[in-house]
This record gives sequence, structure tokens and C-alpha cells, in this order.
Amino acid sequence: MSRIISFTGAQIIAGEDLDIFHGAALNVVDGRIESIGSPIAQGEQVALESSLILPMFINAHCHLGDTGAKELGVGLPMEEVVSPPNGLKHRFLNQLSREEHISQMRDGLCEMLANGIIACADFREQGLDGSLRLREAAAGLPLQVKILGRFRETSTCAQMYEEAVQLLAVADGLGIRDVDCYPLQLLQKLRMEYPNKLFAAHAAENQGVERKSVRDFGCGQAKRSLEFGPDFLVHLTHTSKAELEELASAKVHAVSCPRANSILGDGLPDLKSWLDAGVQFGLGTDNMMASSADMFREMEYSSRLTRGMNLEANAIDSKTVLKSATIQGARALKFDQDLGSLSPGKMASFIVLDTACLNLKYCKDLISAVVNRADVRDIKSIYIEGEKYK
Ligand SMILES: [Zn+2]
Repeated sequence: MSRIISFTGAQIIAGEDLDIFHGAALNVVDGRIESIGSPIAQGEQVALESSLILPMFINAHCHLGDTGAKELGVGLPMEEVVSPPNGLKHRFLNQLSREEHISQMRDGLCEMLANGIIACADFREQGLDGSLRLREAAAGLPLQVKILGRFRETSTCAQMYEEAVQLLAVADGLGIRDVDCYPLQLLQKLRMEYPNKLFAAHAAENQGVERKSVRDFGCGQAKRSLEFGPDFLVHLTHTSKAELEELASAKVHAVSCPRANSILGDGLPDLKSWLDAGVQFGLGTDNMMASSADMFREMEYSSRLTRGMNLEANAIDSKTVLKSATIQGARALKFDQDLGSLSPGKMASFIVLDTACLNLKYCKDLISAVVNRADVRDIKSIYIEGEKYK
């Protein structure tokens, strides 16, 4: 027999365009959304007065591997903190036992769930074993993780290919440091051989890597990355307008992590120029050591930063920001069949915000309140596939 639940009494942000529904019920059958409208007569009813229902978030870029190193190296430049093999992060990881490391990553995943994140894409270092560790850490948790592994950067092409093949038997795809770390022909060959895996790379994260790319190859990292056919590129903090337009016409998704870019002193992404170029983008919280796994904070920072740096209060609208944390991230990660919006057929995984709490009481614009004001303390409950998680 089917399990039918109607969630009533709440305002609902639903559909791919994040429309607000007042006075409708969210009807769920066997964990999937059936409809938004009148409650289903024969089903169970869950009353959610003074609430706002919104889809759970998609964290489109993270590094769960450094969950146990929070705040380590704040104030140091990026190369000293995260660059392999001797960055602070890697020295930290080397002194952990495998079990300690898996347990820390599991804590990171639980933190994401508690903050309303239902899916993420993790750039997992440490080769094949790194991906296996994250698989173990995520076992049994309802959060969906795309594990994007990486293989050694310093060996022969044949060895790298062999390692990549072993890695891709376990990982969901590749999440490489940047396009300059491997021979381009190797990335192209792997892309051809694994069309259904997710391929992603950091690109133009700081001025140094972008200048080097222009000097050595005559173009920025974004343009060069397009040559191996990635599914999405992360950061693009220093990508030119012309290259952003090329990215948009190639229909390659982008992921922005402005809080991480800021604290590492790498620069500020201008999301208005991304929008003007037609780039489709999601948001990510990046390294656990550098930023909390909190999409409310990432949205608010993105929203305020973009308006402030463009000297224009309307430089980005709140709905665009909320989409970047939900449906756009789901599209970049190819989760949009199931997640990213509350639409019929998709999983009924949603956050319930308390609109009567002091922080959200009196709000005149719900979408703006979610982006520019709400935080995890306003979460009343979380439902995953129709069942109460928190
Ligand atoms: Zn990253």
C-alpha cells in the first residue's frame, strides 16, 4: 500500500522557477511529490502552520576531506594551506588514521544534513583510497554524494591513465585541481571513454594560476578546460568576460564559492558578470576547513557581495541566488531528475523554516528572507523523501 502524506498550512516554494504557493498542500506519495494543491483525502495530514517549505540545498562544491582541520591555516595563502603535497591540509591528513579520517568526513556529511543540504559534489584527494574512504563515510546516510576523485599528478602518462581507470571504477567522476595538472590529451581520452561520469575542475581560482595559464597557453584556465569537455568548472574568480561567454555557449555549468575565495585572499567572483554572460551556476561551500557547510551563509554572502561590488542594489535578484543553491546546483551535478526543486515526480526532501521566529517574523519578501536573512537556527524541521529527519 502506498504511503500518502499531505503537508498542509505552510507556504511552499515549489517548481523549477521557485514560485510561492499560499494555502496549498504538498502531497507526497511514497516519498515523491505527487502534487501541490488540495490535500489528498485518504492520506495522513501533517499540519505545518507558520512555516515556509523550501527544497533542500545542493552544495555543488566541497572538500569533506579536511572536515577535521577547521580554521587550520586561516591567514595563510592558498598554496600554503591546500596545495599538495606539502600544504598544511595534506600534512594534517597524513597524520590521521584511516578510521579517524572517515569518521571526520562522516561528521561533515551529518553537519550538511543538519543544515538542510541533501546532495553535494566532493573533490576527493588521495587517489583511489580517498574515494573509497568517502564512500565508507557516506554509507547509510540519506545525503547523496558525487565523489569526484583525482589521481597522482606526478607519474608517467601510462601510470596516470591506469590510476584513473581504477579510480573511475569507484568514483562518480573526476574533480581535478585544475586543467594544468595533467596532460590535456589524457583528460580528453578519459572524457571520451567515460561519457557518463562527471568531470569537473577548479579554474582561474587566483590571479597566479590565471596569469600563468595566459602566459603559457595564451588563454585562461576556463577556455583551456573547455578542451576536455568538463561538466562544470569551479571558482572562475579571474575569468574574462569573453571566456565566460564561451563557457555559457558551451553549456558548461559553473560553481561559485565566494566565501572560500574571500578568506583565502583569492579575489571576488563577480556573479553579475556571470549572469550577463549567460553562465548557469550553482553555489558551493568549498573546503570544510575554510568555510562552514552552510548554504544560507553562502547565499547571503553571494547576494550582498554582488550588489555591493557592482554599486547596484539590483545587480542580482534573490530568486537567482536561491536557484543557484538548489535547482542550478542540481543541474550541474545531474541530480535534477530527483532533487533541486519541489516538483511532481521529484523526491519530497525539504526544509521547513519557522516563519514565526523572531528572525523571520514580519518579512515582506519570503525569497529575499531565505537568501538575505534566514539561517540554520530558523530550521523547524527537515523531511527527507517525505519522512521527518530532524
Ligand atoms: Zn575546491
